[in-house]
Amino acid sequence: MAAMMMDGRALAERIRAEVAEEVQALGGIGLATVLVGDDPASDIYIRRKHEAAEAAGFRTEDLRLPAEISQEELLDRVAALNADHAIDALLVQLPLPDQIDEDEIIRAVDPGKDVDGFHPLNAGELLLGRPGLVPATARGVMALLAEYRIELDGARAVVVGRSEIVGKPVAQLLEQANATVTVCHSHTRDLARQTLDAEVLVVAAGRAEIVSPDMVAVGAVVIDVGINRTAAGLVGDVDPGVAEIAAFMTPVPGGVGPMTIACLLENAVACARRRER
Ligand code: NAP
Repeated sequence: MAAMMMDGRALAERIRAEVAEEVQALGGIGLATVLVGDDPASDIYIRRKHEAAEAAGFRTEDLRLPAEISQEELLDRVAALNADHAIDALLVQLPLPDQIDEDEIIRAVDPGKDVDGFHPLNAGELLLGRPGLVPATARGVMALLAEYRIELDGARAVVVGRSEIVGKPVAQLLEQANATVTVCHSHTRDLARQTLDAEVLVVAAGRAEIVSPDMVAVGAVVIDVGINRTAAGLVGDVDPGVAEIAAFMTPVPGGVGPMTIACLLENAVACARRRER
């Protein structure tokens, strides 16, 4: 039997409508983004974030800076946005050019305005089980699991990928939902042995169709975070043939992707609410 496809577009649309109501209730929210250089993929991501934010009624600031900017000047720009009372939420689009110390820039963002949830203070709160501003993709994964009432308590969950923006926070949230979590990465021996054990499998490796149908247990829930541009077009980290094995699965596109932007807007609401207090 074919898996039920988990509709990230529909859920994201509902979240965005709720965010728009919150923006009204709060009397407006200011979101600033900083894009350094002219990487085409980053430009698309920033444009999508602005379109979604503006549709939800945010005030937005789209700061574009030259690729050759110095560390000091970028730090000054971030400090100015931190100090700007009209800005509730702030993100610096990654990756940054080679001359920039990315880590220092992430640390420079006011943790209360850190809509991406990348600041070590927010990452630490998540690790300690007090999630506040959590990276949007990880929130999106959990929201999809909740929407389809996937039982996580006691479930065997496997996360493929341990990046700071996806794999690590997803693993933390699954563990906090009382799943028993295994994290796999590029050094994992015999990946299939791990993935076959998963009742809930989240794949965020950035490797086109790395998970094939023979690596998935019958009836598993499979969340595909991957977005890979190939000659054949946009594909996930999971072979679409897995839909014949799994009970639930996210499509690519239309699964986790739309959830990331919706959850980013939710994080911006959380930033604004925290500042109100
Ligand atoms: P990343 O920083 O490149 O991390 C990839 C992770 O996968 C690393 O932990 C790496 O292990 C692991 N990995 C790589 N090859 C592997 C293999 N053969 N077997 C097992 N693990 C392997 O990527 P990311 O930022 O987490 O993104 C992952 C994917 O999600 C990408 O396709 C990205 O485009 C996509 N993404 C989608 C959204 C969305 O909104 N849908 C948002 C963010 C990212 P090591 O740690 O050992 O290197």
